[in-house]
Amino acid sequence: MSTKYNLFISIIIPCFNEEQVIMYTYERVSNTMSSFEHGGYEIIFINDGSRDKTLSLLRTIAQKDSCVKLISFSRNFGHQPAVTAGIQACTGDVAIIIDADLQDPPELFPDMVKIHLEQNANVVYGMREKRKGETFFKKLTARLFYRIINFLSDTKLPVDTGDFRLIDKHVIEAFKALPEKNKYIRGLISWIGFKQVPIMYVREERFAGETKYPLSKMLKFASTSLLYFSKKPLKLALGLGAISLLVGLCLGIWIITGLIFRPETLVHGWASTVIAVIFFGGVQLVTIGVLGEYLGNMFEEIKNRPEYIIHEKINF
Ligand code: UDP
Ligand code: MG
Repeated sequence: MSTKYNLFISIIIPCFNEEQVIMYTYERVSNTMSSFEHGGYEIIFINDGSRDKTLSLLRTIAQKDSCVKLISFSRNFGHQPAVTAGIQACTGDVAIIIDADLQDPPELFPDMVKIHLEQNANVVYGMREKRKGETFFKKLTARLFYRIINFLSDTKLPVDTGDFRLIDKHVIEAFKALPEKNKYIRGLISWIGFKQVPIMYVREERFAGETKYPLSKMLKFASTSLLYFSKKPLKLALGLGAISLLVGLCLGIWIITGLIFRPETLVHGWASTVIAVIFFGGVQLVTIGVLGEYLGNMFEEIKNRPEYIIHEKINF
């Protein structure tokens, strides 16, 4: 037994169709929790509308182990709402968020707690040194994604991090107070501030099953992170508008001077007219599209619907 940490620890695990790994995940997490001394713990599983045996496996686990708590959603709401539900329900002095697929090693928990205590860190976030067994496409899009977001975002986000992290009571309370419904959690935690310290680790291959993040979910995730953390696309649209205005102005001057000084050259103007119409039409549509995205997000927020609906809670 190592040093005793006098903390109650909440482990938050979102699960969507994870029947192939969930038992192993539970075992590795609870083995880790019994490998060091602490002031107690709870494992909160969030079943995000799984359509396989995940829910019944989780019920069995929760029946046998009273440290295990279960929140089950009425349908699939998504990874971020699932993690949010876990943070909102947790009672720990610190909470650790971890994926169900064992890509992030639970064995790192004691080190995370140690960094939290020794360095007075309010957030200890996992930073991927290496990503094993992920496709070239996933690695490339992830690399690009974090760099583009950082370029555009008003809040600086550490690159190559996921939601695998420890957060303390201050951060948990600040997070719970956030009113927005569409949450990009790792960005919000960065935005919350306090002292944030990285812990390096190697991201393993998914233990079993396949990714629950198809391209469509990845795009929605990227769009939330971009539009909720940056006003730059609007500025870009404004810049684009300004440039096209300038081009239009120059073109106008050229045509008018042509009319006066070179009337014979003005007969064949069809191609340039069509190009101008298409170009400016495109600029306008893109700009309206950007506006529409922001407006749509405002619409979503104004509706003020809950982020998720809970069907069942066990051991709470
Ligand atoms: N997940 C979820 N709801 C979803 C999609 C994913 O709760 O709609 C969970 C999933 O069970 C896993 C975590 O979110 O615990 C990360 O998903 P995954 O490992 O499939 O993503 P990847 O690592 O491939 O990006
Ligand atoms: Mg994964």
